[in-house]
Amino acid sequence: MLKIDFHVHTRKSDGLNSLDEILKHARRIGLNGVAITDHDIISVKKNVVLEDGFIVIRGIEVSTKQGHIILLDVNEAPRKGLDVREVIDFANETGALVIIPHPFDFLRNGLGKLSWIIPADAVEVINAGCLFDYFNKKAFILAEKRSLPMVAGSDAHALSELGYAYTVIKSAASTPEEIIEAIKKGLTIPIGRRYGIVKKIKRKISKFFHG
Ligand SMILES: [Zn+2]
Ligand SMILES: [Zn+2]
Repeated sequence: MLKIDFHVHTRKSDGLNSLDEILKHARRIGLNGVAITDHDIISVKKNVVLEDGFIVIRGIEVSTKQGHIILLDVNEAPRKGLDVREVIDFANETGALVIIPHPFDFLRNGLGKLSWIIPADAVEVINAGCLFDYFNKKAFILAEKRSLPMVAGSDAHALSELGYAYTVIKSAASTPEEIIEAIKKGLTIPIGRRYGIVKKIKRKISKFFHG
């Protein structure tokens, strides 16, 4: 069963590391794949299965008027400044998967109450970057009450944050397409913990010194 971190940022948006550094480190810590979800930019050309079977899924974290939403298996970036419903329509038209990330974390631009009513394929019930457990617990309740599949992601902006949360795929999936199908069917186990404020401060300091 694969372990995939569905929420990772590179330096193409506000992360510290290159895609190569991330892929190397992800393997080292035992992940089988990552979704690259940079802010408002698609930074990998396509979904790929690398020679050793490691999987890279093309995603984007879109800043909508109401907050963040993640699209996976996405071919093009939606226009900027859209309403969240317009982004979801765009995803449905283009066949992308919709995940509600950190729904109740207002410090990370979660969608808040809208998360109860907007159409989505899955909820990120563990975001390792959330400052308070409460945000993730509430996300879990949301997914349960709406009967939506659950995923987890690190929201890593630095190597040291990678893999703190990941999703186990409960199927024999070995390609990005099969993984997307597995999410839709709810064949997922969210695993993880928060990396908390210490790592976040270290990252900010490092960013300050290294740009
Ligand atoms: Zn976010
Ligand atoms: Zn993010």
